[in-house]
Amino acid sequence: MVILGGGPAGNSCATTAARLGAEVTLVESDTIGGAAHLWDCIPSKAMIATGNAQSFLRRSMGMGLTEVGSQVDLTLVAERLRRIEARIEGSVRSLLESQNVRMMKGVGSLVGPDRVRAETEGGVSELEADVVVLATGSRPRVPDWAEMDGRWVLSTRDCYPPEELPDHMIVIGSGVTGVEFVHLFRSMGSQVTLIVSRQQVLPQKDPEVAAALEEDFMASGVRLLKGARAISASGGADGVTVRCDDGRVIEGSHALVAIGSVPNSERLGLEAAGVHSRGGYVPVDAFLRSNVPHIYAAGDLSGRLPQSSVAAMQGRKIAQHALGMGPGRAHRYLDYDKAASAIFTEPEIADVGLAEADAFAEGRKIRVTKVPFASAPKALINDDPRGFVKIVSDPATGVVLGGSIVGRHAAELISVIAVAVSNGLTVSDIHESLLVHPTLSEALAEAAE
Ligand SMILES: Cc1cc2nc3c(=O)[nH]c(=O)nc-3n(C[C@H](O)[C@H](O)[C@H](O)COP(=O)(O)OP(=O)(O)OC[C@H]3O[C@@H](n4cnc5c(N)ncnc54)[C@H](O)[C@@H]3O)c2cc1C
Repeated sequence: MVILGGGPAGNSCATTAARLGAEVTLVESDTIGGAAHLWDCIPSKAMIATGNAQSFLRRSMGMGLTEVGSQVDLTLVAERLRRIEARIEGSVRSLLESQNVRMMKGVGSLVGPDRVRAETEGGVSELEADVVVLATGSRPRVPDWAEMDGRWVLSTRDCYPPEELPDHMIVIGSGVTGVEFVHLFRSMGSQVTLIVSRQQVLPQKDPEVAAALEEDFMASGVRLLKGARAISASGGADGVTVRCDDGRVIEGSHALVAIGSVPNSERLGLEAAGVHSRGGYVPVDAFLRSNVPHIYAAGDLSGRLPQSSVAAMQGRKIAQHALGMGPGRAHRYLDYDKAASAIFTEPEIADVGLAEADAFAEGRKIRVTKVPFASAPKALINDDPRGFVKIVSDPATGVVLGGSIVGRHAAELISVIAVAVSNGLTVSDIHESLLVHPTLSEALAEAAE
C-alpha cells in the first residue's frame, strides 16, 4: 500500500494497514501529522486555549478572587505551539515506526494506476503499489479579491501566532473557522468585526445554537456586519480596508480571510491513473474507493465531512477494506450523518445527528427536550450558567436521534449523545446511567429524562 499524505487520514490508514499485515509506504511532503497538526486543529485550539485561559481569569473575578490580570506574550505562545507540534509529530512518527511503516519525505503523484512517483531530496523514485490511498488534504481558499500578504491580510495559516496581536481584526467568513478565530482574537483582547454574508453566523447550524453564539459575541463586544459579502481586502502597516458588496467599508488593523478550503489535487497525477475528480475532490463510494477500485481517497480530498476525526476513521476503514475485511462487525459503514462536531468558541458548541430544524423541514415527528445548564449545580459552581443541552429523540421509541450542546465543555459532553446516536440507544439508556455529581452532564441526563 502506498499512501500520499500523512495527515489524520493517511497516518491512521498506514498504522491500521500495517497492523493488519500490509507493507506500507507513506509519502508526506511536509510534516507527519498533516495540516491538521501543523496548521489547523491543533495550533488553532492551542491558541484558543490561551485566549480561554485569559477570559477564564477575567470571569474568575466572580469566584472570590480579588485581582486577576494577564498579558498575552506572542513569543511564548509561539514557543508553546512549536513544543506541542514537535510532541505530536514525534508521537505519530513513533507509532508509524513501531508498525514498520516506511516514511518518505517528498511529493508524491500517480504516474499510472499502480505506480507512484515520489520526489524526495535524495532524488526521484517510483513505487509499485497494489493499493494507493490519496490523502493529500486541503488548504485555505485564497480569493483573487484579497491581497493576502501574510502580515496584514491573513489566512488562518498566518495566525500561529500572527506577528503582533491585532488592534482590530476584521474576520471575513462566518463558518466554523471564522467564528473560532473571532473568539480567539476577541479573547486575547483584540477588537473584532465579523463579516457575515447571510443573516446568521454558522448558516449550516441550528438557528437557536447560532443565536446563542451571536448573543455571546455581541455581549463581548464583537461587531457583526450581516448580509454583507467582502469584495476586496487590502492594506498595510497603516491599516487594512475591507469593502463589501453593499457599499459598506470597514477599517481595521488586520483582516483574516476564512472562506473555506480547496483540495490539494492539482499535481497528483489523477488523469495519469484514470481517477475522476469533481472540483478537485476525488468522489468515493461507501468503501472510499475512487472510480479505480484499488485507488482510495480519504480525508478532505474525498470531499466528505472535512474533520480530522472523520479523516482518521476513513483511513482506518480503507485499511480494513483493502485488506479484506468485509462489511460486518469489523467493518461498519461510515455514517457521516452521525459524526459529532464541535466549534471551539466560548461558549463551546457541539452537535451530532439529526438537528431540530432539519427534522421540522422534513416533516419528521420528533421529541425535543432542552435543559439550560443553569439548572445544573456544577454550572453555578463554575460561575458559568450559560448555554443548554438539547436532545432530539423518536417520540415512539425514545431512540436518541441527535442533540446539540452550547456551553462549557460542550465538545466533551457531546460524546455521550454521539455514542447514543451511533448505537441506537434510547433516552432512558442515558438518564438511567449513574453519572457523577456535581457535573455538567447532569443537565444532559435531565434532558434525557
Ligand atoms: C483552521 C482550521 C481548524 C480546524 N480544526 C479542526 C478541529 O478542531 N477538529 C477537526 O476535526 N477538524 C478540524 N479542521 C479540519 C481538519 O484540519 C481537516 O479535516 C483534516 O486536516 C483533514 O485531514 P487529511 O488527512 O485529509 O489532510 P491534512 O491534515 O491536510 O494532511 C494532508 C497531508 O498531505 C500532505 N500532502 C499534500 N500533497 C501531497 C503530495 N502530493 N505528496 C505527499 N504529501 C502531500 C500535506 O503536506 C499534508 O501534511 C480544521 C481546519 C481548519 C482549516
